[in-house]
Amino acid sequence: MLYAKCVGNMLFYPEVTPYLAKMRASSLLQPRPEGLYCPPGDFFIDPVRPVKRALITHGHSDHARSGHAHVMATRETLDIMRLRYGEDFASQTQEARLGETLAINEVRISFHPAGHVLGSAQIAVEHGGTRIVASGDYKRSEDPTCLAFETVPCDVFISEATFALPVFRHPPARDEMRKLLDSVAQFPERTHLIGAYALGKAQRVIALIRKLGYDEPIFIHGALIRLCDYYRERGLDLGQLLPATQDSASKSDFAGKIVVGPPSAFADRWARRFPDPVTAFASGWMRVRQRVRQRGVELPLIISDHCDWDELTQTIRETGASELWVTHGREEALLRWSELNGLKARPLHLVGYEDEAE
Ligand SMILES: [Zn+2]
Repeated sequence: MLYAKCVGNMLFYPEVTPYLAKMRASSLLQPRPEGLYCPPGDFFIDPVRPVKRALITHGHSDHARSGHAHVMATRETLDIMRLRYGEDFASQTQEARLGETLAINEVRISFHPAGHVLGSAQIAVEHGGTRIVASGDYKRSEDPTCLAFETVPCDVFISEATFALPVFRHPPARDEMRKLLDSVAQFPERTHLIGAYALGKAQRVIALIRKLGYDEPIFIHGALIRLCDYYRERGLDLGQLLPATQDSASKSDFAGKIVVGPPSAFADRWARRFPDPVTAFASGWMRVRQRVRQRGVELPLIISDHCDWDELTQTIRETGASELWVTHGREEALLRWSELNGLKARPLHLVGYEDEAE
């Protein structure tokens, strides 16, 4: 039972004032088996199971699943989901414009660029004076294929921790692509076969090659065609792309050429059509020698669509958050870093998010 104190004609509830002034962050967003849930707004962010209302940060399949009743996302993320799952991927969709504030049951929602892949967004959730930013996947390094990450000041910042160890420091992506072009010049008789994930990484690799002035046709695996076409539709210049799938082509047609395909295709018959290929793989994991060996990669290209250690800690600082929540990945070092830097930190242990497909 609480007793109010009367001062003049105003009622004061001293015992509850601190709680009324700021909503507890854990009441605004909380982990559930389906994903991050907002009780006052009755919605989920990036749920891994079908739900009534989902807000989606970006089109990678571990974040954007089909079967939700209502989906709110940026136009590009909705388009990408449509491309991957078909027209009926959700019963209802709503486009979120970047920077615009919307309300769901009095919870204020806004989407902001995350710099991860085309259409990727961080989602800010605000209610009762508390703002939490769920960043989804994000990065700070150069990517000509999407809008750069924008820092959104908040009380609680939610981050993934895929490369959250001080040993992970990604070199500039351009330097990695220069290594590739040097190798192409050095081995004019061999095909350079680059493994890159179909959404985001493949288009980024191609765009970076073009930025370095390479204007020969680039050959792409069939699995990349629709997404590359979509990126072009949205105004990205990828230069001349040719399918690397025609069966009539002879091995010599691919001598000295660059071919981009999803890593999963490397074990297929498809990969055997290229003459003495130099196998390359564009991934943040190429920093780890053991992974390079395991995959039999000859030319590792350390290009990641996730933050490295410095980018993670820099971003957390920039948001001014007093609390960090870590969704998945290598969380221990980041939790420790937060403690040492005066931030409260907690792991959310969300399941269902992959860190392979980066
Ligand atoms: Zn992603």
